Amino acid sequence: RAKEEGRNRVQFFLEQMQHSADHRQQVEASLRQAIDKNMLYICYQPLVRGSGKIVGAEALVRWSDGEKGPVNPAAFIPIAEMTDLICCLGQWVLAEVCKQMAAWEAQGKKLVVSVNISPREFQQNDFVEQVQEIVLSSGVRAEYLVFELTEGVLFNNIEAVRLKMERLSRLGIRFALDDFGTGYSSLQYLKQLPLSTLKIDQSFVQDITTDSNDAAIVSTIIAMARTLGIDVVAEGVEKKEQLEFLEHWGCQLFQGFYFSRAVKARRMASLIPPAGKEQLREAQIISFDQ
Ligand code: C2E
Ligand code: MG
Ligand code: MG
Ligand code: MG
Repeated sequence: RAKEEGRNRVQFFLEQMQHSADHRQQVEASLRQAIDKNMLYICYQPLVRGSGKIVGAEALVRWSDGEKGPVNPAAFIPIAEMTDLICCLGQWVLAEVCKQMAAWEAQGKKLVVSVNISPREFQQNDFVEQVQEIVLSSGVRAEYLVFELTEGVLFNNIEAVRLKMERLSRLGIRFALDDFGTGYSSLQYLKQLPLSTLKIDQSFVQDITTDSNDAAIVSTIIAMARTLGIDVVAEGVEKKEQLEFLEHWGCQLFQGFYFSRAVKARRMASLIPPAGKEQLREAQIISFDQ
């Protein structure tokens, strides 16, 4: 009996694996099509100061599948990351963002936009050339771009990573370390790499007012970033109490549903503040509809 059960279990796992491999191939194939057929689009989530002033936005890809409705990136980015598909997707995203920024600029609107770069994209030998080509042909100034890297890039030779970052820095691009605290970064890396920003992962922010460990971690990251002279962004701010806690510990930049979800480009354009005008926090809280 035990043997039979064992076999059933093996059978079950084999089926599951098959299923997930199938699923993966399916997602991959339709994502490839989606890129070709322009079924992807970008939403922008405002990056704000405590005062409520919008100082930038993060570009977040969306997949609108006619049948299934919008597909969340969590459902397809990890699959794209298993193959070079993420590189196609990444190129598309960067080109699309640059195109949008150029269009905004033509309307007199300038905004710093950050773009997520997967480790696999960053590792491509010709990544710098690709970026240069896309940015130059768009006419957008690279100074308005931030690349968000995750600690995953640091599994590679740190010196090679640093050199590549330096080359991109020379173009004008700045760097943020995304999802900080969830990976394997050490203080050593932070010192060695040309980072302008640390983004504290939302998993720490979530329970900041109730979990003393998270509170300690976050306040330490904020203090450390300030010591290193790096900007720090708290991700996933949903509540006023979280904001107050973060501000108390010296964090000045925020992203989260408390301020705004990611919105479509047109809506983002209407939110870009006219240069030089401070806005009130309360006036800046944006309704949830996209
Ligand atoms: P991320 O780069 O850490 O982006 C932040 C994610 O947190 C976004 O999810 C955003 O909508 C969500 N978020 C922001 N504020 C809040 C909040 O207050 N509460 C909660 N619960 N969530 C909040 P999204 O858009 O689903 O993206 C998920 C991840 O997918 C991103 O995490 C990023 O790693 C990846 N991703 C998105 N777009 C791209 C892209 O163009 N290229 C690559 N390589 N990855 C992307
Ligand atoms: Mg990000
Ligand atoms: Mg993040
Ligand atoms: Mg992420």
